[in-house]
Amino acid sequence: MVQLKTPEQIEILRENAQLVSKTLAEVGRHIAPGVTTKQLDKVAESFIRDNGAVPGFLGYEGFPASLCISVNDVVVHGIPGSYTLKDGDIVSVDCGTVYKGFYGDSAYTFGVGELDEPTRKLLQTTEESLRLGASLAVEGNRVGDIGHAIQSYCESRGFSVVRELVGHGIGRNMHEDPMVPNYGKAGTGKRLKVGMVLCIEPMINAGKKEVYQGSDGWKIATADGSKSAHFEFTVAVGKEKADILTTFDYIKN
Ligand code: MG
Ligand code: MG
Repeated sequence: MVQLKTPEQIEILRENAQLVSKTLAEVGRHIAPGVTTKQLDKVAESFIRDNGAVPGFLGYEGFPASLCISVNDVVVHGIPGSYTLKDGDIVSVDCGTVYKGFYGDSAYTFGVGELDEPTRKLLQTTEESLRLGASLAVEGNRVGDIGHAIQSYCESRGFSVVRELVGHGIGRNMHEDPMVPNYGKAGTGKRLKVGMVLCIEPMINAGKKEVYQGSDGWKIATADGSKSAHFEFTVAVGKEKADILTTFDYIKN
């Protein structure tokens, strides 16, 4: 069941989304060759706690860290550890918070040092597809419009869309209805209404769409070993225009 949010609750979700946005930027400042993913996790945990919030992922269904850090062929849910970043890696950082009883959840894929052209194109396309999908979070549109926009944009550029994991509503729980797939048919699915707050999160592979789950029970990686990118916004459905609660401006400026 979809739980609609009041304007006051949306402002709390915005505060969460802003803190996640700032945390991602703080993590980004530490991304460099020679840094371990565990070090990045510590940066995020300290930053979140220093800002009066709690990491949203730590302990969530038993997840052992504050960030999901997914490098190269890992799509999502990578556990931070001893892996040392190197030039040419891509690093998806997915971050959650809990603050004033509500969740924040956003992700950004960073490049380490110089990326080759196909990898740059993968990151650019995934981020653009997110912006395209998020712009459709307007009352009267349907969930399938978002997925269709993301899928057609990414596939037209030669990339594939992961099917096993999808976006979601967010509120007092990290994962609420409706599910928001990154694929689908325009004009189908639940109709969007003001008060709905969605996490839209394309997971896009450079190669084929198939994935597998790692033996740690968490990580999801591409079956063909190709790189995968992941960007995520928290978005409130607007009357005329989507209200994107997350910003990547702290990362880019
Ligand atoms: Mg996330
Ligand atoms: Mg999410």
